[in-house]
Amino acid sequence: MNILILLGAFLALAYAVARRLMPLRRLAVISGLFLVVFTLGGGFSLLWGILVWSVYALASLLFGVTQLRRQWLSNPLLGRVRKILPPMSDTEREAIEAGNVWWEAELFRGNPEWSKLHGYPMPELSAEEQAFVDGPVEELCTMLDDWDITHRRMDLPPEVWQFLRQHRFFGMIIPKRYGGLEFSNFGHSSVVTKIASRSISAGVTVMVPNSLGPAELLLHYGTEAQKDYYLPRLADGREIPCFALTGPHAGSDAGAIPDRGVVCMGEHEGREVLGLRLNWEKRYITLGPVATVLGLAFKAFDPDGLLGGEAELGITCALIPVNTPGVEIGRRHFPLNAAFQNGPNRGKDVFIPLDYIIGGQENIGKGWRMLVESLSVGRGISLPSMGVAAGKASARTTGAYAHVRKQFNTSIGKFEGVEEALARIGGHAYMMEAGRLLTLSGLDSGEKPSIVTAILKCFNTEQMRQVVNDAMDVHGGRGICMGPSNYLGRAYQSIPVAITVEGANILTRSMIIFGQGAIRCHPYLVREMEAATREDLPAAEREFDEALCGHAEYFLTNFCRAFVYGLSGSHLAPAPYSGRIGAYYRRLSQMSAAFAVTSDLVLMILGGSFKRKEKLSGRFADALAYMFYASAVLRKFEADGQPRSDLPLLEWSAKYCLHQVQMALDEILRNFPIKWLGVIVRHTIFPLGLSLRQPNDYLGHRVASLLIRPGEARDRLTDGIYISDDPDDITGCLEDALHKVIRAEPLERRLRHDRLTRGEMEDHEQWVARLQADGHIDADEARLLTEAWEATTRVVMVDDFAPGEMTGGMQSASAPKTINKKSAVKKKAAVKKKRVTETIE
Ligand SMILES: Cc1cc2nc3c(=O)[nH]c(=O)nc-3n(C[C@H](O)[C@H](O)[C@H](O)COP(=O)(O)OP(=O)(O)OC[C@H]3O[C@@H](n4cnc5c(N)ncnc54)[C@H](O)[C@@H]3O)c2cc1C
Repeated sequence: MNILILLGAFLALAYAVARRLMPLRRLAVISGLFLVVFTLGGGFSLLWGILVWSVYALASLLFGVTQLRRQWLSNPLLGRVRKILPPMSDTEREAIEAGNVWWEAELFRGNPEWSKLHGYPMPELSAEEQAFVDGPVEELCTMLDDWDITHRRMDLPPEVWQFLRQHRFFGMIIPKRYGGLEFSNFGHSSVVTKIASRSISAGVTVMVPNSLGPAELLLHYGTEAQKDYYLPRLADGREIPCFALTGPHAGSDAGAIPDRGVVCMGEHEGREVLGLRLNWEKRYITLGPVATVLGLAFKAFDPDGLLGGEAELGITCALIPVNTPGVEIGRRHFPLNAAFQNGPNRGKDVFIPLDYIIGGQENIGKGWRMLVESLSVGRGISLPSMGVAAGKASARTTGAYAHVRKQFNTSIGKFEGVEEALARIGGHAYMMEAGRLLTLSGLDSGEKPSIVTAILKCFNTEQMRQVVNDAMDVHGGRGICMGPSNYLGRAYQSIPVAITVEGANILTRSMIIFGQGAIRCHPYLVREMEAATREDLPAAEREFDEALCGHAEYFLTNFCRAFVYGLSGSHLAPAPYSGRIGAYYRRLSQMSAAFAVTSDLVLMILGGSFKRKEKLSGRFADALAYMFYASAVLRKFEADGQPRSDLPLLEWSAKYCLHQVQMALDEILRNFPIKWLGVIVRHTIFPLGLSLRQPNDYLGHRVASLLIRPGEARDRLTDGIYISDDPDDITGCLEDALHKVIRAEPLERRLRHDRLTRGEMEDHEQWVARLQADGHIDADEARLLTEAWEATTRVVMVDDFAPGEMTGGMQSASAPKTINKKSAVKKKAAVKKKRVTETIE
């Protein structure tokens, strides 16, 4: 009986702490009174009494008496931390401090406030943006023939380049006063999504000038003269920009670029001026081969002290017209058959005046900070939008194809094996779009949530990989044979590009997301680290002690939450709704608390050495990312007005995400730095075991069913991509076939027996003619059957070529801008050699 009372009191106390029903001090007093009554009532044996009272007294002394706490706990701890805290390089610090934290911090801290999530405004297109998407973007999509672009021409056609310039596609982020379109981030993302759903090569061409590059950097850091000169020219496409950071010896570790600029006097426009002499070698630079202005990152040095300061000035960004003597551009890489312009460039003893530096002389050495600060916005738009485009296009086309394509006399989409793939396609497409919308809500409210944008970049492109792979599997040979009627192959080939650029995914997942998240989202870690690095010892001790107290309360609260929510199967966790939907919010609250406890413990145990534990960090990134996506799908469903027809998509995605979070935490606990502690924590945060399950087969069936026939949910899921209504266009054919096949299905069912018996010996045309002649069907019905058959045949056919037609072209419509003689000779030789072997696929 006594045990039950004690257990009940403990659970009540844990619940009160978890839900913060009252301040901890008051709870401590109430607990003390309870212990007195319980002890006087003879509730404890002697041994238990001593034990419980000792713990209570020690905790009260430590947290109630500042002097004692400092002496016994915080000062010794501070001494240890000061010894082991690893030094942080400037580049690390700047990367970590870039941007701000937003919704992900709520999830990180164990107690997401749902009213905040619901308060984020869902992004909407302005009338002007909508008109642009429905007008020029739609028109552009009809102009794009991706096979022509990627196989024959290896470039966008001149009229497409002209159209892009004319309609200011390159100036979406440039304000109107400079002649740009001044679109919101959502407007920008919607344009990119639609174009990328038609042609990845065109999508990337439009993305790059609107992402991290000259325009973005000028807007934030440029001098007025630089803005006035360049922004109007970038907006209308007179200038084609690129941004060159990566080189052969510095990829992910971009801070290590060996490209140098030395301050010196030199000649510029006939005058001797102070400037920089640059030498660089860059590669993989998108739009580089056709750029007119090069955004260049290099390290600046002033060995002769001409600027009167230090010799090592740091990473610097400058804008360099490509006709500056010594600049060499024009050669191209061939990135997995994509035709967007991408190539190396180099500079030999290129002299530039100081006012080519973005922001002028005062920004010399500030390039790294400029880059990391600006990265967070573009990273949340370009590649994630490409992922969304691939997700939506795969969902639409694969759903239709899986209905139209019949094997074993059944639509392949009805087979359970195919259903599994379709369910993943639908679920991930929904998640990617929800993630995009939530992120853009933040970006358009002026936030710069660098962790969220890193999550979105990494996980939308990983989901793109999953979705496109599944789409390829469902299409079988139809997805493999390249040609004008293959709408999947190029997206499939482009996946590694999306994975690699703007922060390669392995690095982003295993180092950036949680590494940055831990420092930026944790409410006390930075305060503790800052206190530990203070020179003034008394101030350090005071600040460290305050932060430590807050940290202890934070940990205790999350510990109680994780335990109480876990033990109650999340029923005691907060949620804005009751019922089925509310359960997902509650589960997410539970996972958030479990995440907070686990991450806090790991950080406490590993301290600075956590930096090297990328496997743990990667799993924390998974957990944080899937919590983000779970909250994003809940927000999207709510913002869409909770449409019943979307329920399968919501439930599949929410279950999938929650399961991923649980499994990531479980893997962390299995690899916990202190094994026995991992076991204790597992039993605390998962007292009922791993109870969250993957979406079940029936739910998967419901998602797949949404994809394989026209409907409201399918339209909503794929809204925003280009859908052709041209029956000569393959995606138009597919939609057309889906409708015709569905119309003919009742009739085909009626005639199924005949088809499988007598009809076996006839081709389709003969079969229909006989049925009509025998009076089994009338003329309208005959037409229905014929139309469905013809449309199906168009859709299942793949391209074939005569041997001579297979050879692609590398002839660029845009001639290299500057190329020195030596490299031109080399290029000729290379082209000659290539001709012998070149079959483009
Ligand atoms: C098509 C294309 C377009 C591009 N466009 C541009 C552009 O316009 N401008 C520009 O400057 N750059 C551009 N890039 C460069 C791009 O940003 C780099 O490719 C990217 O930074 C990775 O560098 P890397 O390819 O040299 O790979 P590496 O840095 O060699 O990395 C190889 C692998 O190691 C992993 N890795 C590296 N370090 C770590 C670590 N500490 N922890 C865990 N994993 C790690 C990476 O994640 C990656 O998987 C482009 C690249 C491509 C392919």
